[in-house]
Amino acid sequence: MTSNLLLRGGTLLRPEPKTTQTADLLIRDGTIAAIGEDMGVEGDVPVYDASGKFISPGWMDMHVHFREPGYEQKETIATGSRAALAGGFTDVACMPNTDPPIHTRDVVEFVRERAEATPVGVHPIACVSKKRAGEEIAEMADLRAGGAVAFSDDGAPVQEAGLMRRALEYSSMLDRPIVNHMEEETLNPSGQMHEGEVSARLGLDGIPAASEDVMIARDIELAALAGGDLHVAHLSTARGVELVRRAKARGLPVTAEVCTHHLTLTDEAVERTGFDTNTKMHPPLRSAADAAALKEGLADGTIDALCTDHAPHASYEKAVEFTQAPFGILGLETAWGLIGRELIEPGILSVEDAVHKLTVAPRRILRLDVPEIVEGTPARLTIFDVSTEWTFTDDDIGSKSQNTPFMGSEMVGRPWAVYSEGQFVECSEAGCVTSDA
Ligand SMILES: [Zn+2]
Repeated sequence: MTSNLLLRGGTLLRPEPKTTQTADLLIRDGTIAAIGEDMGVEGDVPVYDASGKFISPGWMDMHVHFREPGYEQKETIATGSRAALAGGFTDVACMPNTDPPIHTRDVVEFVRERAEATPVGVHPIACVSKKRAGEEIAEMADLRAGGAVAFSDDGAPVQEAGLMRRALEYSSMLDRPIVNHMEEETLNPSGQMHEGEVSARLGLDGIPAASEDVMIARDIELAALAGGDLHVAHLSTARGVELVRRAKARGLPVTAEVCTHHLTLTDEAVERTGFDTNTKMHPPLRSAADAAALKEGLADGTIDALCTDHAPHASYEKAVEFTQAPFGILGLETAWGLIGRELIEPGILSVEDAVHKLTVAPRRILRLDVPEIVEGTPARLTIFDVSTEWTFTDDDIGSKSQNTPFMGSEMVGRPWAVYSEGQFVECSEAGCVTSDA
């Protein structure tokens, strides 16, 4: 690992205000020491050719599951951080459905301490309710004091409206959002996949789009009532996009994210793959019309952030009947190649807008500082291209798990390296970065 280096001839992409500049960038001891043209270097500073590549603020995925404590057979904070680096991410926000859940300050601090060994910023999202049981509100002020960046019972929704109202009120005082997993669970107690023609044909219990839409509509009204910031986790339905669009038009403090897999796959994948358990996740793969609406929502700014809902499961856990398999897939390693293929190449998002949704938007929602590309500031960067066509294989996985539906898929655009916390890591070498996995 290298802490001093010169990146020659890269395109510096600053997402806000949007500017690009082709320049050399010199990093010394973790700091951007100089930006200029035809820069000379003294001593044995390694020089990397960054021509044809973009250099942006380090990317952040605001929705991942790193499974530690409690489910280390799926992922640890060390291996999850490897996955992040492999995908070009310098920062993640991790969800609290661990065991114990991130529902006390001790657990928040445990996660942050475990992350100190990696160059990835791992920002814990703490529970809304004690034990994620949806009954008693967690000690949100104490969790915030310990470093929680937001609150969520993700994996499960905050089912009770009264609890959600109070959580929004507290979150408003703490100036941090409530991130709700949008699902009215009584509408799909045994749902396995999106409810529609495909589920009917396959004879699987459905998860109707309405179970998500009902909860989004409820929470928008509660945000209007209580005043706190509401963030819609993993938005997956066309109607949900419209609800968020209207909430924003009303001036309500509502933001939303979308997972890369919901843009690229539909419920038809369950049938086509013959019930591959890597097509099973929450929310489920929806219809083609939903995927199209999500892309529109990204293009018009209704959807603020791109995320992955990286949800590792051990191979033996997924190697079961579809109806028995746990929900969730990997996401960090495939994110950029899918964004390139589905959003940038077809002209739905510019590279600047895509980068904004991976850098500025998530950090603004979570009240984190956006890294700058300015001399004298800490270097926290992602270096990538938008043109490399490549095929995703298991060599590209940094995670401890393998549960992805994108094995063998064509990707467009590749993360090449990250620089974070004094370390330069090539994404393809990310597996070597942490050893105590
Ligand atoms: Zn969720």
